[in-house]
Amino acid sequence: MSEHILGVDVGGSRLRLILTNEEAIIIADKLIYLEDGITTKKLNEEAIKETEQLLKDHKLMASDVMGVTMGSAGVPDQGKKVLTESPNVPKSMKGLIAVVPALGKAFKWDKLYICNDCSAAVECAKRFGHKRDEIKLGNPFASEPYAFRFANRPGDDTKKDYDVVIYWTISSGTNIGVKIGDMLFNGEFGTTPEFGHHYHVDKDPFGNELKCGDGATGHIEAILSGGGITRIIRNGIKSGAISKGPLYENTVNEKNDKALPVIMYNHIDDDENAKKIADFVSLTLARVLGLLIVSFGPGKIEIGGGVTKNFRKVLVPAINLLDENKNNAFYLQRGKTSLPDICVAKDYGTDYVWKGAIAGFLSKFKG
Ligand SMILES: [Zn+2]
Repeated sequence: MSEHILGVDVGGSRLRLILTNEEAIIIADKLIYLEDGITTKKLNEEAIKETEQLLKDHKLMASDVMGVTMGSAGVPDQGKKVLTESPNVPKSMKGLIAVVPALGKAFKWDKLYICNDCSAAVECAKRFGHKRDEIKLGNPFASEPYAFRFANRPGDDTKKDYDVVIYWTISSGTNIGVKIGDMLFNGEFGTTPEFGHHYHVDKDPFGNELKCGDGATGHIEAILSGGGITRIIRNGIKSGAISKGPLYENTVNEKNDKALPVIMYNHIDDDENAKKIADFVSLTLARVLGLLIVSFGPGKIEIGGGVTKNFRKVLVPAINLLDENKNNAFYLQRGKTSLPDICVAKDYGTDYVWKGAIAGFLSKFKG
């Protein structure tokens, strides 16, 4: 019986092959490091060779595997089952990941599935994430690590699943994935949502211009991402707005960009500049959460990514802002029907991309 699925994850200069089952339980997990200068074709050959070995090691035939699935950063070409413009692969691959059709051809698998990373993550949130009947009204820390239900709603006692699910990553960048019923929301051209690149506001609290990673001014990602927070701190120092205090002293000579947001959040109680940035991030998060809630009417929003590890200082203040502001729908709808459950993703979304690729594959081929 072909109950196995092969998950492929390419990025960060490594290829990962995960042999799994319908519950996304790992049977084998193989990491192959990619050399500089590797081509798309060479990577395909490596993947075929390693898959052959993997099947042999587990005494499996190719026909014991249902098919192959991949979630990765990039723009999916659903016709060819490849990802283009992927930012996380060696430059020599020119952004093209074509390993799924290559494996399909080599092992005669016709069930092939690809999606981008945020789409995969929302498939995971839907199938393997927090369950509707496990989240209780009130204590948000009753579910690990944090899942808040704000009001009783029709169906809470009887419905096990959510109809509309949003996954939101706040990591080196930021984006959402949206699942509406059985439909993964991808837009007319298969490239939406690009939520992080919505224009939000021009300047940070120190009057410096907010620049997104793509060079544009004022995008949400210029605030709600590790890279965005780091740039706000660095620009504050450069412009002289941050010139003394613990945030300044601990960041001025810090070379590692990723350390800056962590240092900033460690000093919100003893440094006014750190507090100013944290408040700005939480206000932005509150506004964007509100926007998602009124736009999509989700039953559940799961939030993951590195920045979420500080959820007590990032997410909880944002929810409090939403909860207290009498002008927003979140406040107005309290006690009515449409407030979502807001959850920190399981393990901060660490495994959501490959598990989501499995979930998407199952939704497509098993219903
Ligand atoms: Zn942008």
